[in-house]
Amino acid sequence: MGKSVVIILSLIIATIISFIGALPSLLWGLSLVNYFSTASIIFAVQLFIGGAWNYYVDMKNLREQRKIDAANELVDSVQNIQICCAYCGAINSAAILVGDNNTFECNTCKEINSVILSCSAARTTHPIMPKAELANIFKSIDSE
Ligand SMILES: [Zn+2]
Repeated sequence: MGKSVVIILSLIIATIISFIGALPSLLWGLSLVNYFSTASIIFAVQLFIGGAWNYYVDMKNLREQRKIDAANELVDSVQNIQICCAYCGAINSAAILVGDNNTFECNTCKEINSVILSCSAARTTHPIMPKAELANIFKSIDSE
C-alpha cells in the first residue's frame, strides 16, 4: 500500500470518527453549526495526535538505525589475525578489536590466550622511483 493511499485512508477514517464523535452534540440539542465545529475540533485533535505519533515513530526508527550503524561500525573494526598460542605455539586465527580485552581459545590445546597489542614506529618509505620521474617516462613512451 502506497504512502499516499495510507494518508488518504487515514484522513477518511479521521473524518468519519470526527462526524461520529460529534453526534452527541446534536443529541444534546445543539445547532448544526455547533455539530460541525465539534467535528472540526475532533478532526484537529486526531491530526495532532497522528502527527505526534508519527514524530515519535520516526525518532524511534532513527535511534534504532543509529544503534545498527554503531554495531556495523564495530563489526567493521574487528581485525582477523593469525597468532601463535602462548602455550603450545600452534597458529590460530583470532578476531581482535583495538581497545578491547582480546582473548582466544587455542584450537590445539584449548588454553585461553590473551592478545597483547604492541605498537612500533618505522621510518616512512619512499618509492624507489619518484612519481615525477615515472611521469616523465610515461610522457616519453607516449611521444614515441
Ligand atoms: Zn595452544
